[in-house]
Amino acid sequence: MTIPSATDITRDLVKFNTINPPGHEKLCSDYLGALLLDAGFEVDGYQHGDERISLVARLAGTGGKKAICFGGHTDVVPLGNKPWSFEPFAADVVDGRMYGRGTCDMKSGVAAYVHMGLKLAAEPRGDADILLVMVAGEETGCDGSKHLQKLGVLPECGAMVIAEPTSNYPILGHRGALWLNITTHGKTAHGSMPQLGDNAVYKAARAVTKLENFGFNVPPNDLLGSTTHNVGTFHGGININSVPDRASFTVDIRSIPGHRHDEIIDNLANYLGEDVEIETVVDVAPVLTEADDPWVRDVYELIASRFGKAPEPRGAPYFTDASALTPACGHPPTLILGPGDMALAHQTDEFCDVSRIEEAAEIYETIARRWCEVQGGDGPA
Ligand SMILES: [Zn+2]
Repeated sequence: MTIPSATDITRDLVKFNTINPPGHEKLCSDYLGALLLDAGFEVDGYQHGDERISLVARLAGTGGKKAICFGGHTDVVPLGNKPWSFEPFAADVVDGRMYGRGTCDMKSGVAAYVHMGLKLAAEPRGDADILLVMVAGEETGCDGSKHLQKLGVLPECGAMVIAEPTSNYPILGHRGALWLNITTHGKTAHGSMPQLGDNAVYKAARAVTKLENFGFNVPPNDLLGSTTHNVGTFHGGININSVPDRASFTVDIRSIPGHRHDEIIDNLANYLGEDVEIETVVDVAPVLTEADDPWVRDVYELIASRFGKAPEPRGAPYFTDASALTPACGHPPTLILGPGDMALAHQTDEFCDVSRIEEAAEIYETIARRWCEVQGGDGPA
């Protein structure tokens, strides 16, 4: 079997429209599943919605060491309102850049580790399993990886790479996200007789103003900074001449490690008082791996030898599937490392440098070879 290049696989993946919502990643998953099954992987699909299938593919090792896991998502975000200069699902390559929705975030990353898996499947096995996880639905709050976590189908792993865009720079973690929908209630009345009603918009407005000055009182994390919050939307009332009996707004909280989400909700509920009702929309945990973890040091070394400069410990601004996959796999050390440029994620005319895609595939291969102690490439550590 000729092994398709990481660039070829990226192109094939981009051609599946997996805009989430609704996602509909099934065809994309079928394509990846068939490739990996043919190569000798055991492949399981897990459905969590209409046409939504996450894949877990395992290349069995000879035993004796915990698995290494590579993870990512196959959904993409909507195209946005601005017109594109390139057809978003054509994956055209112009001047060494492949354009299209998902080229950066993050079908290129998935393609790069799938290529690595196909390549290593054609060789004698190392001692550890290689686990490839491709989830349907990350962009709306890690739905796919949370589903896998809930099912308990992932094995304990010894190391994890999440292939989100980092320009192939190894990143140690990210903050968590707690998205809340906060509602206030009142009593409707005719707009000409407001004294007969109870205005829910006033209550929500008071809560929002109060929230602007809310402090979390938690010392910042050296790498990830502080817990922050932002009011993203505000809705209230139906028509101009009625007293609104309902208003709501959403809050995006980004949390640092050690700052528990249930405590944040309790504190907010106390602070905002009885007028508000708080509902959790998205709840994904922060993740952070120590820079002096032996496997991280090993990856830093190989990155240093490749780029001629040792990486510094860094965090990512966004959240990833590591929030669910890392705990689901027994909290292995986790790095975020992928070919896309994070500044291009979710943008109009999103692209990924083809050279970066191939580079990611090579880096993943070296990481996997070192972990599984398979000869070839740069050889075992
Ligand atoms: Zn992503």
